[in-house]
Amino acid sequence: MAKEKNTEKQQELSITVAREEDLSEWYTQVIVKSDLIDYSKVSGCIVYKPRSYQIWEIIQRETDKRFKEAGIQNAYFPLFIPESLLMKEAEHLEGFAPEVAWVTQTGDSELGEKLAIRPTSETIMYDSYSKWVQSWRDLPLRLNQWNNVVRWEFKHSTPFLRSREFLWNEGHTVFATKEEAVAEEKVIIGIYKEILEKYMALYGVVGRKSKNETFPGAEWTHSIECFLPTGKAIQGPDFHHDGQIFSKAFNISFLDEKGERQFAWQNTFAITTRMIGVLIMTHSDDKGLVLPPRLTYNKCVIVPLLFKGKEEAVLEQARKLKERLSSFGAVLDERVGVSPGFKFSEWEIKGMPLRLELGPRDLEQGQIVVVKRHSGEKILVPLSDAEKEVERILNKIQDEMFEKSKAYTLSNRVVCESVGDFEKALAEKKWPVVRWCGDPQCEESLKDLYGVKSNNIPLEQDKVAKGKCVFCSRDASCYAHLCKSL
Ligand SMILES: [Zn+2]
Repeated sequence: MAKEKNTEKQQELSITVAREEDLSEWYTQVIVKSDLIDYSKVSGCIVYKPRSYQIWEIIQRETDKRFKEAGIQNAYFPLFIPESLLMKEAEHLEGFAPEVAWVTQTGDSELGEKLAIRPTSETIMYDSYSKWVQSWRDLPLRLNQWNNVVRWEFKHSTPFLRSREFLWNEGHTVFATKEEAVAEEKVIIGIYKEILEKYMALYGVVGRKSKNETFPGAEWTHSIECFLPTGKAIQGPDFHHDGQIFSKAFNISFLDEKGERQFAWQNTFAITTRMIGVLIMTHSDDKGLVLPPRLTYNKCVIVPLLFKGKEEAVLEQARKLKERLSSFGAVLDERVGVSPGFKFSEWEIKGMPLRLELGPRDLEQGQIVVVKRHSGEKILVPLSDAEKEVERILNKIQDEMFEKSKAYTLSNRVVCESVGDFEKALAEKKWPVVRWCGDPQCEESLKDLYGVKSNNIPLEQDKVAKGKCVFCSRDASCYAHLCKSL
């Protein structure tokens, strides 16, 4: 009877649909059953449970550390933005207007001026900046804030990937010269790339956004795009060079060393909780969540194999092992009346990077069985070397996961020289890199014809674009990633 109940519970806990079969149902089951999120009463807004919030905490901590080393300071600006401020830069407003949530009333009385819940903070920050920046001595001004923003999208929401409220960093920097502002791109994109590669085990391609896809109010945008195993690309962190567009709209100007008034040069940049969705889509499998070891505090679980009469000896060693592995946040699963097999699959669903099995026979032979979550590989490790070996294997998992993501992306990139090449690549769910003109009208027609847009134009071009655009009669200017995006 007890066994039957266990099987039932296991069914309820395990992922019942393959990702190949039904991606969206699979994704939903993974994030719910691995205990990452809960749904809330507000559509499009989720609860980040401790197991997902810690992922964000680690991303935030590591990014923040690097920002500070680069000379960027944190500040905090209000959540509410008066309508008059939001309307100051027309193009910027136009980009966000349909998604802005407004506060119009407090208690029973209507507000004199309605307040936007920040969709992004340029306008409220730059109002302050215009007061703070007066002389060349006030520059550079490089601030960042970690906060939440609201964009009331009407497309179908997907936790992490498309939420109405999400968490992010917004960096907003001001420089005296264009050269200094532009030079910041390398530093910031370098930080984001390191976070993606070293912590999230994600490979991405750095490139420039097309005119159509450039952030509203920016002169140009660079992004890191990731290619998902669904044949779609998704935008990761980005960096916008705003030129003097906002400084002119908000009068962020200063007296230079010669006493002449100049408008400042500005940048903005962000990484968001969307990346958690990219991580899940890229690495998780039909057994559940797969997490890179550096994105979780608890990196291994010890499952003692208990046989009648030998329980005490095994448990004693298992408890000692837990202490020895405390710097990896080792968890000991001592539950009685739950079979090892049940425990194994439960920790697999939750994405525990490493499982350590210890039974009476292992004890006799002075070894532990170590199982990698992402590959299922089993390794025998001498019990006496547990600390050293666990550390080595965790680092190896981290590297293997990144290499997998990189190999997947690179092996799916296809350079296309004709419409035929491009259509074939799309049909095979590959990532086309197409000889292209970059023209906004051409991009619009691609949207209509194929439902694709440009993801980005890689900074490192596959080759020099010569001749005509693959799609129209204009001259080609680049090779661009063109596919459906999530
Ligand atoms: Zn074209």
